Amino acid sequence: MGLFSGKTALVTGSGAGIGRATALKFAADGANVVVSDIHVDGGEETVSMIHQAGGSAMFQRADVSKAADVAALVAGVVDQYGRLDCAVNNAGIEGTIAPFADQAEANYDAIMGINAKGTYLCMQAEIRHMLAAGGGTIVNLASIAGLIGFPGLSPYVASKHAVIGMTKNAALEYGKSGIRANAVCPGGIDTRMLDSLADQATSGAQSSAQMMDPLHPLGRIGTPQEVANLIVWLSSPEASFMLGAIIPVDGGYVAQ
Ligand code: NAD
Repeated sequence: MGLFSGKTALVTGSGAGIGRATALKFAADGANVVVSDIHVDGGEETVSMIHQAGGSAMFQRADVSKAADVAALVAGVVDQYGRLDCAVNNAGIEGTIAPFADQAEANYDAIMGINAKGTYLCMQAEIRHMLAAGGGTIVNLASIAGLIGFPGLSPYVASKHAVIGMTKNAALEYGKSGIRANAVCPGGIDTRMLDSLADQATSGAQSSAQMMDPLHPLGRIGTPQEVANLIVWLSSPEASFMLGAIIPVDGGYVAQ
């Protein structure tokens, strides 16, 4: 028995990184977890990790930038477990670092298509189900790049500012219907994504920790678990008065 016993949680992009840590924590706290990712191997590995720990989970592949995939994903969750209580829209990409004026159109389209449109499509499908079911929770993965600018990352920054805007709007439109939408804004977190950004920024000369640790007032980057803790708390009844909140989990980055 746990805080989420009898509840179903969906985590997109949970084949790695923050999404995987979130799926593992939901399962440890008693939820049935639907692990979804565009990459089958990572997603199935997350499900195996949950099963080995004695939890309940299934995998369903979906590309969040495709409306048909997203509709099939939410329908699959309801088919399998009968309900969707907690949705975490986590799937995202970082893209290529370049000055604003030099960003390729394809990079903008890919980042906005997954990070912004993908989150929007997932929220629409989740909200339709939650309205019919009488409520639910949504946590979106924004970023400190949704709060401030980062030179070289203009499409990513635009996509994360968009995630914050759609989180606020869904909160205003559906709070009274029992749907609590909130967003988290991680600082540098030790995942493949941060490794890719450090590689690009330093041409492989520095690890993500070497590059990013000193930029955080706490003196280090964060772990996926430290973000998962906030996401799962926001999804729980303990956060029943949290609505439309945009919360940094960033070792003090945006306090600077
Ligand atoms: P990650 O690259 O480790 O994991 C992202 C996962 O999303 C991968 O498993 C990937 O296969 C999946 N994915 C990518 N495109 C997809 C698509 N179209 N459909 C479905 N799944 C897809 O990255 P992460 O660091 O764990 O990032 C998770 C989220 O947190 C992202 O939204 C990211 O922007 C955000 N974030 C990360 C950091 C950080 O420092 N790592 C900081 C702030 C915000």
